[in-house]
Parts: sequence; structure tokens; C-alpha cells
Amino acid sequence: MKQSLPVLAALLLGACATAPAPQPAPPSPPPVPEMSEALMKDITRTLSRDDFEGRAPGTPGDEKAIAYIEQEFAKVGLQPGNKGKWTQDVPLVEITARDASPLTIRGKGKPMTLAYGPDYMGSSYRVTPSIKLSDSELVFVGYGIVAPEKGWNDYAGIDMRGKTAVILVNDPDYETEGLEGPFNGRAMTYYGRWTYKYAEAARQGAEAALIVHDTFPAAYGWNVVESSGQGPQAFARSKDGGASETAFNGWIQKSVAEKITAAAGKDFAALSAAAKQQGFRPVPLGVAANLSFANDLKEISTSNVIGVLPGKTRPDQYVLFTAHYDHLGKCAPTEADSICNGAIDNASGVAGLVALADTFRREGAPERSILFIALGAEESGLLGSEYYAANPVFPLSHTVGGLNMDSLTFAGKAKDVRVIGGGKSELDSVLQDAVAAMGRYMTPDSTPEKGYYYRSDHFSFAKRGVPMLYLDYGFDLVNGGPEAGKAYEETYTGSIYHSPRDEYHEDWDWSGALDDLKLYYLIGRKLADSADWPNWYQGDEFRAARDASCASARASGGGC
Ligand SMILES: [Zn+2]
Repeated sequence: MKQSLPVLAALLLGACATAPAPQPAPPSPPPVPEMSEALMKDITRTLSRDDFEGRAPGTPGDEKAIAYIEQEFAKVGLQPGNKGKWTQDVPLVEITARDASPLTIRGKGKPMTLAYGPDYMGSSYRVTPSIKLSDSELVFVGYGIVAPEKGWNDYAGIDMRGKTAVILVNDPDYETEGLEGPFNGRAMTYYGRWTYKYAEAARQGAEAALIVHDTFPAAYGWNVVESSGQGPQAFARSKDGGASETAFNGWIQKSVAEKITAAAGKDFAALSAAAKQQGFRPVPLGVAANLSFANDLKEISTSNVIGVLPGKTRPDQYVLFTAHYDHLGKCAPTEADSICNGAIDNASGVAGLVALADTFRREGAPERSILFIALGAEESGLLGSEYYAANPVFPLSHTVGGLNMDSLTFAGKAKDVRVIGGGKSELDSVLQDAVAAMGRYMTPDSTPEKGYYYRSDHFSFAKRGVPMLYLDYGFDLVNGGPEAGKAYEETYTGSIYHSPRDEYHEDWDWSGALDDLKLYYLIGRKLADSADWPNWYQGDEFRAARDASCASARASGGGC
């Protein structure tokens, strides 16, 4: 576990999709047991059937999926993971905004009226029947980042109570070519994610937060903001009913931000340039926001399904495998139907989870325990994983590390494996050995600016310090090379992903998925038989959380 960061980074960067770096022959490849393809087909076929209704949280299809996964966990010999129960309840609230007013900006010159939908979008995280912003002063807060470890504070010297933060998307050095810089160059960090920006604005006591949308640094168009912001939004139910959140969290188009700053007598481009510099200070704009809308509220519940394979000698130390089982339910109809069955995303990942459990049990329990968690409500914003990580059944300081599976591949065998968020933790050396043993090579994340590491369930654990791996299927296919890999990816993201076309096909090629699972098996086996506690590299954004959690565990005699 002592692989140094520069060596690993060089190794990752040295490999690329078209010209693999030569790999030394593996010394003695560990035995890799076969996984059951029949079992995985069965599970994927069942969970993606129409009578599971797309497994949206809180629906009868969701309940059916939970019961089915419990049964499959039991069949492969896992034990119930929550004090004799298979499930952990995840309490949610569904908030549907209606009758949104325009956003009116007043203070200097003629009031400006901006339309809900084309100009601005947003909602409230507060469980309250209506929301009203009245003359809330706009303050430009740059990237809205408070990062003491980097000496960065975009809220320095301002009291945000009653005010609305206007925030740039992504992080200050996103336009850099390489990965060097206070915020990892063009790679997105957690500070660049909108989830962070809303949370930080709330911590600052702001009344509202408006993120300025810009397609390149956001990595998606305004159409995505507009369509995903409509309809019911699920949130975790909290004791304070969201009172500690801002009253309103929204987005404005960049052209709207330019108009508002111009009305305030400022230049948006100049403000944005200043925000990239260390020592930036927030800029009150002297204009104020007004809006109102009503909320329909509904309490719903879903569950995480937890199975455990107890370890032989260190059963109170846990290696984690996760996959979300929920999906979108009903969605925009295509020629086929209007059920988003989520066969690839992520019935296939749950199938992988059960097949891994089956293999570990058949091969004999390792020294440490292994947790298999089928997580709920991922598509609603990682809510099931967030709930588990905030209310862990097994302490996070006793959780060694893990791997999250979100969508297996049906592109066939690949020579490479894509590493999303590599170069962050000592898990890299375990990964490197397993990849070499499988005779494959690693391709770094080709779009680190999109921040994929922060967009699936492993992130809920990572931000609380648990080292987590997230891998994506390879591009360099054994049959057809990188072009074939690209073509598969384009078809998948272009017409299948998050649509009713994500359906089960009996003639899928499982060979690539089986290879990936063998790799995951090797990683899990190594971690679960070892006594090491891999950590995030020095200086990584998640290191401090792990160090704090380990220090408090040591004080009470156990854990990392
Ligand atoms: Zn998914």
C-alpha cells in the first residue's frame, strides 16, 4: 500500500486507449474463480421486467425489487446485515414545485422579469408548502468554495443571512489543460459539483443559491437542467425538515447572469476572471431577487438491502461492494413503452453483486467480512448511499474500503479497464495488481472534467473518508478495438441510457462483464484477506475525513 502518487499517476497517464503501455508479466496470477452467468442473467431479466415498473423509490415495483434481492442474497448464503434484518429503511420526502412565479430582479433601473424554465430553474429542499423570496440581495461569490486546506474562501468577510449567492459552476482552474492546479486542473473536484455549492451556501446561512449554468464547465446543456428539475424531487427526510437548507436552490442561464450583472453595473466576464484568483472577495450586486412557488409534499420510503459474509478471523472489519437497484420508474415514452426498466442501469450491477457474493461464499469466506449492499434511490441523488453512510450499520472506521458497480458492460471483452477517479487512494496498488493479473491495462478517466467520480454511490462513502474504487468498462475491445468500444458507448449514451430502451436482451454478450467481475473479485479478495488499511493519498480532498474517523476509532480501541 505504499505506491507513491507520482509513480502511479505516471503509470495511469502512460497508458492510453490506442497505445497500451507494455505491462510486465504478472509474477503468479492468483486463481480467479468462474462467476455464474446463468445467475446474472436470471437476476437482470427479473429486475428489469415490466411488472417491476422501473423500480422508482416508494412504488410497489420498488418493494418488489427489495423483496426479490433479499431472497437472492439468502439463496447465495449471505446473512441479513442489519441486526437480523435484510433491510435498512430510508425515509424520503417527495417535493413537487408548482405555480412558480417569474424571477424578478429589482434594485437598479427597470425591474427584470425572468421566466421559470427558459431563464431560471430550481426548487426548495425545505419541507414546506410554499416558498417566497422577497428582495433577497444578490451576492456574487465566485465558485462558492470554502476550502481551508487550500487557503481558499469565496465567502470571506460576508454575512450571507437573507441573501442570495450567485455561484459559478465547476472550480477555479477547470480551464487548465493538465491535472495540475489548486483544484486538480481540468479535473472536477467535489468543490465543483452543484451539490457541494448548495450545501456550502446553506452552511453560510444564505437565503437562496443560484448557480450560473455554462454548458462546457457544467458538462451538460440547459435542457438537462430544465427537464430534470421538473416534477417530483425526492430528498432525504431530516429531523429539521430541511430548515437548515437554503429556501431556494436554483440555476440561471449564463446569459441571464450577464444581464443581471450588467444591470448592477458590473461586468460578468471580469467578475468571473477575478473569481479564479486566490484572495477573491464576494461582491454584493446591489440588486435583489423575488420569486414564489408552492410545494406538494409526500412522505415516501425505500430501503437499502444489506447482506454480509462474515470474515473468518476479523469479522468486525468490512470490505464493501455496492450497486444501486432503483431506477427511474415511468419516463418519457419511446416507440416501445414508457417504463424505464433499467436493465443495464443497474439491474446488471445488482446481478454482479449477487454473483460476487455467490463466488466469495463458494470459494470460502476471507479473513475480513464482506458487505454487499443493494442501494435504493441512487437516481434521485445518491439518497440510499447517503443515508447508509450517514447512519452506517457497521462503523465507517471499520469499513476498509470498497467498490461500487453502476452498469455492467455488454460490449464484450476489453483489453483495458477505465479508472474513474484514479490517483486518489492507496487502493490503486490493489487495483494495479488485479488488473495485471487479469492481463489487462488501465486507461485513465478520459473526461475528468465531468466529475463522474462524484456522481454515483461510492461518493457518499468517499466523502466520509472510506476509500472507494469506481471502474468503468474498457474501450479497447478484444473484437474491434477502441473504435468498437467508442461505438458501443455512443449507442448506449445516445439512445439507451435513462430511456425505456434500457431493456434486457437474451442475446447479450456477458464475456466483458464476467471479466470485470473477476477483476472485482480479485480486488475484494486481496482487501478482505489483508490486514492493511489503505488511505487516501496525502493532500487528497477525502484524506482529512478518513484521518479523523480513524483517530476517533483508535481512541475507542478498534477500526482503521
Ligand atoms: Zn446507475
